[in-house]
Amino acid sequence: MPKLTPDKREEVIRRRGNISDGDGKKHPITNLEIHHKDRNTDNNAPKNLRVLTKNEHQVLHGKGRTKR
Ligand SMILES: [Zn+2]
Repeated sequence: MPKLTPDKREEVIRRRGNISDGDGKKHPITNLEIHHKDRNTDNNAPKNLRVLTKNEHQVLHGKGRTKR
């Protein structure tokens, strides 16, 4: 499958009502990102995608203190 285009990305987020899977709350679309559960960005199956805020996404990838 092709990588998510900006259009597709937005579509996925909108379809989930701009709700982050991280905190279950609604956020502006500009603050939301798509995470691929299996870390394979070519796998855009709905169950592989999580909607997260930018901050939640960074934490998940360990861009803070710890590596993951
Ligand atoms: Zn990710």
